[in-house]
Amino acid sequence: MGAAHEALAPLLVVAVDPGAELGTEPGLEPGAARLADRLALALPGGLDGPVVVAADALAALVRGLDPRQPCIYLGPAEPLVLALAPLIAAPTASRCAPIVLLTRDATAIPLLGTAAGAARLAARIVQALTAPDPAPAPVSAPAAVPADDIPGAPASAARATGRLAVVGLGPGAAGLMAPDVRAELDQAEAIIGYRTYLELAGPFRPGQRVLASDNREELARARQALALAAAGERVVVVCSGDPGVFAMAAAVLEALEQAPEPSWQALDIEMLPGISAAQAAAARAGAPLGHDFCVLSLSDNLKPWAQIARRLDHAAAADLVIALYNPRSRARPGQLQAALDLLRAHRAPTTPVVLGREVGRPGEQVLVTTLGAVRPEQVDMRTVVIIGSSQTRQFPRPGGVWVYTPRWYPRPLSEGVSEQVPEATAAPPTD
Ligand code: SAH
Repeated sequence: MGAAHEALAPLLVVAVDPGAELGTEPGLEPGAARLADRLALALPGGLDGPVVVAADALAALVRGLDPRQPCIYLGPAEPLVLALAPLIAAPTASRCAPIVLLTRDATAIPLLGTAAGAARLAARIVQALTAPDPAPAPVSAPAAVPADDIPGAPASAARATGRLAVVGLGPGAAGLMAPDVRAELDQAEAIIGYRTYLELAGPFRPGQRVLASDNREELARARQALALAAAGERVVVVCSGDPGVFAMAAAVLEALEQAPEPSWQALDIEMLPGISAAQAAAARAGAPLGHDFCVLSLSDNLKPWAQIARRLDHAAAADLVIALYNPRSRARPGQLQAALDLLRAHRAPTTPVVLGREVGRPGEQVLVTTLGAVRPEQVDMRTVVIIGSSQTRQFPRPGGVWVYTPRWYPRPLSEGVSEQVPEATAAPPTD
């Protein structure tokens, strides 16, 4: 959502029959006035309006709006859709300020501005309207409570457009978790994840439901999260590191693509990134990922070993720095040895290797060794293994060594850099 959209509080537009008294508050029926009060309390930036407009004057009102003005519209759908038709057809529709249609049965439908947070606004609206008590702690209240004071709402019709965030906790240390992830966890109603990761995601408030599951049931966990969100809850799925790196974000999208329920496609879904294990371990050792690198999972749960071996072989031949995730488990003790043998066919025994274990957690160990010396027994499933390229170097620092991969390729060895590198590239931007 662009900052411009956040600057303006949503405007509540209430449509009434042509000929009814127009203006502001006086034209509102009591149900709509209560609804306006609830929204004003529950929306983070408050609420503007309400503006009461005759349904047949809606098109004129829409044309006259500031294009940055988010709107919540309460009234019959048809006149609004007709008024918005030219905007909906425009290629920029998703980037408009959000316009959400709120029907009398408490369904909030994002019509315009999907890229500008319309789905999130819709979810917030329904959350606000379905909370049992508008005054205290709207966030911790269970969301799926009927909105019985919405004008004309059948009690059972209150269904939210829920929210599902798939978040990366980073390696473990609280300071390495993105503030957006912390905020999402704080606001969640249900938090789902593998037991160990849930411990890193706390502390939780009494009202929050924490659903621990076994690590292997990823697709089932993804479906559970989607179903809860579809029921109107604010759901967070937690992953260690980054949610998109060998983790739940892809599982959620796989479940979504195969979703039995079309309503799941309308959910407000967001992936919030985290610092991945390879990045965290690399930072401890220096800058081994300073040039081109790849990440590979050695787990053969979801792909055959032959494919893993082929990728390792190509990555090694391409002289990429390689970060190995899921490097070794009790179920497949021999594979890391096989992987190391494969890499040794391409790289010198002096190639630096970084073993980062439990990085960012109590008991962290970061060891720098070499491809010739590393032994599989030094590695377990809580370790990420970084194998240098032909260019990766190490040099002493107090209490250890720095490891880095220069930004040049190939790196000029003994001579000064400027003699070997054309001026235009002598100082590449650091980013
Ligand atoms: N999404 C995670 C990776 C999950 S796969 C991320 O982006 O980091 C699990 C593998 O990640 C583990 O087998 C291990 O290789 C690595 N890993 C995750 N957290 C780690 C940590 N704190 N220290 C070292 N390795 C870690």
